[in-house]
Amino acid sequence: MIKATNDTPRIDDASACDVVVVGAGAAGLNAALLLGRARRAVVVIDDGAPRNAPASHMHGFLSRDGMPSAALLELGRAEVARYGVRFIDGRVERITHGYEVHVAGGPVLRARRVLVATGLRDELPGIPGVRERWGKDVLHCPYCHAYEVRDRPLAVLGTHPNAVHQALLLRQWSDDVLFFAHTLELAARDRERLEARGVRIVEGRIGRLVVDDDRLRGVELTDGSVVSRAAVFLSPRMVPRDDLLSGLGCATDDDGWVVTDRTGRTSVTGVWAVGNVADPRAQVVTAAGMGSAAAFAINTDLLEEDVDHAVERHRATVAVPGRGDGR
Ligand SMILES: Cc1cc2nc3c(=O)[nH]c(=O)nc-3n(C[C@H](O)[C@H](O)[C@H](O)COP(=O)(O)OP(=O)(O)OC[C@H]3O[C@@H](n4cnc5c(N)ncnc54)[C@H](O)[C@@H]3O)c2cc1C
Repeated sequence: MIKATNDTPRIDDASACDVVVVGAGAAGLNAALLLGRARRAVVVIDDGAPRNAPASHMHGFLSRDGMPSAALLELGRAEVARYGVRFIDGRVERITHGYEVHVAGGPVLRARRVLVATGLRDELPGIPGVRERWGKDVLHCPYCHAYEVRDRPLAVLGTHPNAVHQALLLRQWSDDVLFFAHTLELAARDRERLEARGVRIVEGRIGRLVVDDDRLRGVELTDGSVVSRAAVFLSPRMVPRDDLLSGLGCATDDDGWVVTDRTGRTSVTGVWAVGNVADPRAQVVTAAGMGSAAAFAINTDLLEEDVDHAVERHRATVAVPGRGDGR
């Protein structure tokens, strides 16, 4: 393990580094695993803020269902380290073309290829109680966490246009789902669909979530009335942690997300982006798969370069006797 320090930045063992991976979530770690097993020299840099850290457990990953969220990453790091991959605890603040990777207060690494797997940030609505209970009994992904609160009194908070879909979906897990309209203007069609699906609509603004004894108890409206609930769902605004990619000039789509091919290759030569930084829908298993696909592509890209160099060297050696120029 390399620690970031406040020493003068230095180029760290430039020739030995094939790939720098930024981000040690499922996406970055799975890429590092494949690249390490392919005997590439890999450095993984991570600043210790995986997206699902607020949730104690992780679901929906075959053979890992229900595992503590942090355990997957700890086990992953240990596996990856077995293949000689090096880790730096620190934040990458800049990547330059070429590629120099600048760690805040620490080394500057030079890599032949860069994989950015920095995830995304969930922007939560400013309702008191939401941040405190996020990932515990304030949830966003029914596929990840609804089974654990099945058949309980649930609610969806109308803080995002996706809320109606979320409520329609959530009925698969409970007969008792309330929709708090809050700031959302519901179209007549939405109302009809919610009612038809057995979701009851609660009008009025939400004042706060009622939390007691480390548990969500209910939703309080601004008129002071409290509706008891065991868990609430909402859709955060998902913002990619893509400063490094935008700094490199990677192309984005109309919604502002970096554009990649199916292997995670961005518009900038030598730079890949995988996991939630490129796809907000990616769950842990999907992010891991994206990392794996990128590792194949990066290794193939490096192989092509290695072979080109080998051919150049080969030609230089075999060309000498055949020159026929008398020298
Ligand atoms: C509350 C919650 C619960 C969830 N539960 C589940 C679940 O049960 N099952 C499931 O499949 N999915 C779940 N998810 C989704 C899951 O979090 C993502 O699918 C997964 O984290 C994506 O992996 P990733 O590798 O792309 O990003 P992350 O896991 O977020 O990893 C990105 C890493 O990059 C690091 N990083 C970012 N910027 C820098 C930088 N500049 N320098 C260095 N390091 C940096 C971060 O510290 C972080 O460690 C949940 C999400 C939330 C919010």
